[in-house]
This record gives sequence, structure tokens and C-alpha cells, in this order.
Amino acid sequence: MNITEILSDPAHSRFSMELLPPLKGQHIDSIYRTMDALMPFNPAFVDVTYHREEYVYREVGPGLLQKRTVRKRPGTVGICAALLNRYEVETVPHIICGGFSVEETENALIDLDFVGVTNVLALRGDAIRSEGRFKPEADGHPYALDLVHQIVDLNKGIYLDPDLRNSTATNFCIGVAGYPEKHFEAPNPDSDLRWLKQKVDAGAEYIITQMFFDNERYFAFVDRCREAGINVPIIPGLKPLTTASQLSVLPQVFHVDLPEQLVKSVEGAKTRDQVKKAGIDWCTAQAEELLDRGVPTLHFYTMGKVDPTAEIARRVLGTVSA
Ligand code: FAD
Repeated sequence: MNITEILSDPAHSRFSMELLPPLKGQHIDSIYRTMDALMPFNPAFVDVTYHREEYVYREVGPGLLQKRTVRKRPGTVGICAALLNRYEVETVPHIICGGFSVEETENALIDLDFVGVTNVLALRGDAIRSEGRFKPEADGHPYALDLVHQIVDLNKGIYLDPDLRNSTATNFCIGVAGYPEKHFEAPNPDSDLRWLKQKVDAGAEYIITQMFFDNERYFAFVDRCREAGINVPIIPGLKPLTTASQLSVLPQVFHVDLPEQLVKSVEGAKTRDQVKKAGIDWCTAQAEELLDRGVPTLHFYTMGKVDPTAEIARRVLGTVSA
């Protein structure tokens, strides 16, 4: 079922989550354990991140380094297909522009279509870690907008090869990313919103936001989207803060602000458990207010940690039998 169909059902669960593929070499069991812990909350959908390649350097002789390209967390498409079959839950693979030619993207979309995955989140993707700045492939897409166009074309049966005849149309429901606190590269919030509107006008049917810790940022973002004529569901992304080091890591990596009240409660915590509790309490209060204001669903960034998300879901949603 398409995500928009799920969200338009008044009885749908107000809980969804993002999972990370396991590190290369690890078993898919870690994903199943996370799913087993979170399935009782009856997730509306589960999305799975895509991690682009990184450069690593291996010593191959005295003073001699060999540069290698590795993808540390492969498996997004396989995990989505496995979860769809095993749990009968809608899965949403993240499809990124970075590192892929348009042809490779088309082939990945064909794979997804064949295994029955009909939802995708279309993203530009992060820069290669050591490069700092996003560089598209010579024959790849520079922006998520271009990827949305490609998927919409495929939904019309338009493939890259103009000579294909009687080609089958896919039926992907496309989501895109939005940034309540502005994407860090955008020169200003208005221009960021302008590009977001273009993604929606091109065919994106819902938006998932970057994590935020101050609900007012989300509410103001939704208001600005609506004023700009963006009328698709805007799903709030939530991340429970769990360690004191995240006070500096989260702003650095995700370009988000942490409210002073949250910072003070984490700084005042004396043990790791108290820090975790402060983060969970904060996120619970965020989730309760968002639910009161009628958000489409609460979307949790689990980032490999299942307990904080399960605890917040238990507090705000209660346990629902799967
Ligand atoms: P875009 O929409 O392409 O925007 C990128 C920047 O360019 C913005 O500043 C925008 O304002 C500007 N812009 C957009 N279109 C144009 C245009 N046509 N011309 C000029 N400027 C333009 N990263 C991963 O690598 N893997 C993941 O799995 C992943 N999952 C994510 C999930 C969510 C919900 C979110 C919010 C982010 C995720 N990211 C992921 C991070 C994301 O890839 C980065 O934030 C990336 O820098 C931007 O991606 P985007 O799709 O928002 O890009």
C-alpha cells in the first residue's frame, strides 16, 4: 500500500521508524531484533537508510597507502524486501543520487518494483565523509528533484532507453526530505522552501522532516509550507537524545539546534542513565504535543538504538497488539 493511502486511513498507527542497515559482515538478525521490539507498536511504515561509499586507506607496505572505496552499510533493498515479506509492513528504501548513475538508479528501481516495494524516499544523499561537499556522478543526478523526475517518468512507463516499446509503468509513491531549520547548504529558508515545493510539484507525495528538538520549529515550518502551497503530509522526524556527547554531535552532523532547557537537563544529569532519561523525557513531551496537534505519524530515527524509541512509543501510544 502507498504511504499516502496508509496516512489517509483515520485508523492508521501514529508510529513509524527509520532503520539503519547493519554494518557489512553483520547478520540481518540485528534488524529482526529491532523489528521484533517495535512491531507491537504496529508501525505505519519502516524506512531504511542508504549509505554511500566511503574512502578507506590500507597500508600495503612501509609508508605506502592504498585508497579503497567501501560501502560500510550495504543491503537497503534486500532489507526492505525481507521486512515486507517477514512482517508484512510497508517498507520505504531511501534512494540517493550520490554515487549512482541514472542507469544504476533505474536498475535499482526496477529491482524494487519486482520485489513489490512501492514506496521510496528520494534523496540527494550526503557527501562522501572525507570530501565534505556533495559531488554528483558525471552521469548521476545533482539534486533530489532530478531523482523525483526520474521516478515520476518511470511511473509513466518512461525509461531511459527511448527505444523501449510497451514498457511497464511502475507505481512508486515518492517521499522527500524537508528541513524545519533549513538545509545547511541553502542560502536562506525561502530558497530551501522553493526547492522543496519543486520536489512536491514534480510528484513527491509526502515529506519527512529532519530531526528537530523544538516543536515550534516544526509548526512554523508546516505553516510556511502551507503558505507556499505545499499541501502534502509533513511527517515529523524525532530522535531521542541518549548521550551527553550528542549535545555537540547532533548539531554538527544534522545542523539542528538543541533548546537550552534540554541542554541544561542533560548537563545536570549525573549518570548515563540520567542523561538517557532526560533525552527520553524530552522526546516524549515532543511526541505528546505533536500527536495532540494531529501530525500524520511520529517518525523515529532509531539510529541502531531500539530501547529509547520503544520506551517513548510505550509512553505515548501504549502497546498495540501487532
Ligand atoms: P535536495 O532536495 O537535493 O537539496 C539539497 C540542497 O540543494 C538544499 O540546500 C536545497 O535547498 C538545494 N536545492 C535543491 N534542489 C535544487 C536545485 N534544483 N537547484 C539548486 N539548489 C537546489 N542521506 C543519506 O546519504 N542517506 C540516507 O538514507 C538519508 N536519509 C535521510 C532521511 C531524511 C528524512 C532526511 C531529512 C535526510 C536524509 N539524508 C540521508 C540526508 C540528506 O541526503 C542530506 O541532508 C542531503 O544533504 C540533502 O538531501 P535532500 O534530498 O534534501 O537534497
